[in-house]
Amino acid sequence: MTLMLANIAKTFPGGVRALHSTDLEIARGEIVALLGPSGCGKSTLLRIVAGLETPDPGARIVFDGEDLTRQSAETRKMGMVFQSYALFPNMSVRGNIGYGLKMQKLPKPEIARRVDEVIALCRLEAYADRAITALSGGQRQRVALARAMAPRPRVLLLDEPLSALDAALRGQLRTELALLLRDFGITAIFVTHDQDEAMAIADRVAVMSEGRVAQIGTPEALYRKPATGFVARFVGNAMPLPGRIEGGRLHLRGGTLILPKGAGGQEVLVRAEDIRVDPDGPLAARIDAVTFLGTHYRLTLSGAAEEPLHALHSGLSAPETGSEVRLSIAPEALLILPKGETALC
Ligand code: ATP
Repeated sequence: MTLMLANIAKTFPGGVRALHSTDLEIARGEIVALLGPSGCGKSTLLRIVAGLETPDPGARIVFDGEDLTRQSAETRKMGMVFQSYALFPNMSVRGNIGYGLKMQKLPKPEIARRVDEVIALCRLEAYADRAITALSGGQRQRVALARAMAPRPRVLLLDEPLSALDAALRGQLRTELALLLRDFGITAIFVTHDQDEAMAIADRVAVMSEGRVAQIGTPEALYRKPATGFVARFVGNAMPLPGRIEGGRLHLRGGTLILPKGAGGQEVLVRAEDIRVDPDGPLAARIDAVTFLGTHYRLTLSGAAEEPLHALHSGLSAPETGSEVRLSIAPEALLILPKGETALC
């Protein structure tokens, strides 16, 4: 174990409880995402680890047996990448990357060696002498990462590192960032509100809600075995199926579904990929909209449940908008969970 966070809580002046007591252990080289809606305490937790925010009394932050709780941000040796990158616009790429090392008063040849090393790792050779203003968003993001890595931090902390980029570039850089972090072999914590980003980059994801970690696990574990309705909604966009549960069955507006045996919980949810158009299905629905997405169609369905449902439909054609269809959902695909927090914070 490398980084241990124990009993981390934060109450801001005025009584805002941004973080309830939180424990987290992060292994060497592990990448952990803090995922959650706006205001749930992700940045506060990250800033406490960085030493930029003081936690409530009783917290402990330990790195490889060394207690960092009372150390300043400088002596903790954490690297930070901010959403805005916070680069010096008129300085060259090389100047930006070497800035922290210069502040540490390292000998010039050592600075040059380290700067070259991260420039090569981040594939920035072609841009090394350019000004920041002459770089694209994606290139700036790599410079910010290189700058944070140059002082060889113990842990890298990234606060929404891709959110300043447009959607297409974000998707592309997700994979690149995941590969770079693994090349560096760095232990990293990154904050995001984007589930795809968390799943693509992290070894483990901590889903946060209202100042608490609702669940932590691998992307697969969170998707397949969400602990609460909140986690199921946030990871994989599960849709609630509010209805009457009686005798192992769930009674919905459009029909009745059989629940898996022995399942307990207060909320039933389903994901779009688990709803099938099936002439023998038990649920009646109407197709309100059909969206072609290349690999599949996305159907918007009304009448089956209280709220419209979405279903993913593969095949060469889709049912027409306005048509009446029947749907089936395999009992084992239903998520039957404790309610958990449903309100977005
Ligand atoms: P976002 O994704 O919007 O950045 P977040 O999950 O990172 O959100 P935080 O920034 O950690 O959330 O904020 C958690 C809560 O603490 C929010 O209710 C926020 O308003 C409050 N908060 C954050 N910083 C302060 C502060 N300096 N003073 C008072 N309240 C604060």
